Amino acid sequence: MENPAPQNNSNFDLFVVGAGPGGYVAALKAAKSGMKVAVAEARELGGTCLNRGCIPTKTLLHSAELFQQMKEAGALGISAESVAFDYAKIFARKEAVSQKLRLGIEQLFSMNKITLLRGNAKILNANTVQVGDEKFSSKNILIATGSVPAMPPIPGLDLPNVVTSDGLLARADAPFPRLVIIGGGVIGCEFASIYSALGCEVTIVEALDRILANMDREIAQNLSMILKQGGVQIFSGARVEKIEQAAGTLNVVFSQKEKTQSVPAAGVLVAIGRRANTQSLFGEGFSVASERGAISVDENFRTSVPEIFAIGDATKTIQLAHVASAQGAAVAEMLAGKKPNVDFSVVPACIYTNPEIACVGITADEAKARGVPVKSGKCVMSANAKSLIDCQKRGFIKLVFHAETDKLLGAQLMCGRATDLIGEFSTALANGLTREQLARSIRAHPTFGEAVSDALQTVR
Ligand code: NAD
Repeated sequence: MENPAPQNNSNFDLFVVGAGPGGYVAALKAAKSGMKVAVAEARELGGTCLNRGCIPTKTLLHSAELFQQMKEAGALGISAESVAFDYAKIFARKEAVSQKLRLGIEQLFSMNKITLLRGNAKILNANTVQVGDEKFSSKNILIATGSVPAMPPIPGLDLPNVVTSDGLLARADAPFPRLVIIGGGVIGCEFASIYSALGCEVTIVEALDRILANMDREIAQNLSMILKQGGVQIFSGARVEKIEQAAGTLNVVFSQKEKTQSVPAAGVLVAIGRRANTQSLFGEGFSVASERGAISVDENFRTSVPEIFAIGDATKTIQLAHVASAQGAAVAEMLAGKKPNVDFSVVPACIYTNPEIACVGITADEAKARGVPVKSGKCVMSANAKSLIDCQKRGFIKLVFHAETDKLLGAQLMCGRATDLIGEFSTALANGLTREQLARSIRAHPTFGEAVSDALQTVR
């Protein structure tokens, strides 16, 4: 669908640069409150999340998990012989899901009379943005340009079949039969789950002493064990030195405990973090304050130039789509003279492995390190009926409360539908709910969620 051409090149109330989950949410919210809004997007609508991140990854994961479940369906009394997958079709479905969501954004833009400008935007000054040869003026500008994969200075990263998550998701060919993943963070673990479920040999090489180093230790240990049971090889405390091309294979060379080792690979995924996408964003002689490429903002997402705001991965923030969306909505609300009603200190983090992982707030270890007195509870999912019915792997729900105020401080979940269940704890944290208040509600049976009631009973 073609978007209507801009009626006039000036006097926008808000000019949004980037149509990812931060930018498009801000644009829609601003337009709904009566502002005249333009959005510039150099690539596809929906940004990384919708085209090269959350959505395509989870679509692939869905196919991979279904494939694995079908292979194991004999145990459930279902005979599914010669189960196989056609990656071209899996890939096509992934594209179709992204396409459908992209179209949805385009329609919403059109319905809300948002001017969509296709091309690279350059911010020339506090009120002027250039897209192609045209200049546009706006009362306010919002930078929502997201992030791109970081590339470490490792020799061999330019070899064929050495890719970032962007490259791996764009590959329509059959999955690499042997994939080495550099970095055991969120991206590394999610791709390890997808590729191992599709029957590929996967190796993770992680520089720190464990995968998911920012997460609860028990979650990381459990996931490590589950991945290993699924055939994934994990080298931790291992720093990649170089990637070499050998006859018909790549070799990933790394040092672990001062010993140099190497693993062969058909493909290598570099997943060592992402950096703010702010290069070439400003015209000559103009810029806003930034720190190593990440734009600096105050608590209202205002940059060093008061008319310009910045949100999401382009700033120094937690790099999550839902954070960018919440920040984008807040900027639009502030510009409309309203007071945003979101607690930005409460951010759920979800990892789509099997079982799913979701955390919010702090762990008992973090609380202790900060000198906060805690009491905690835990329910192991092995006795949870729904987990047994669903053939879920080992998992648990851990809850941390302030020892004196009884208020929830954090929740760490590793279980079926953890990414949905975490919402209960985000709400509880944002509203200062106590253990007693959480224990007041009846949770349905049989559900994964009833384990929350069990965990609450163990708090001491
Ligand atoms: P990350 O920071 O989560 O993990 C990167 C890992 O790479 C770290 O564990 C780090 O120690 C390791 N590393 C760095 N240099 C290395 C080297 N030379 N050799 C070996 N290991 C090395 O980054 P990511 O996994 O790339 O993810 C990027 C961002 O995207 C994160 O902020 C993440 O939260 C976000 N993301 C979120 C989701 C989700 O919400 N489900 C999914 C994917 C990505």
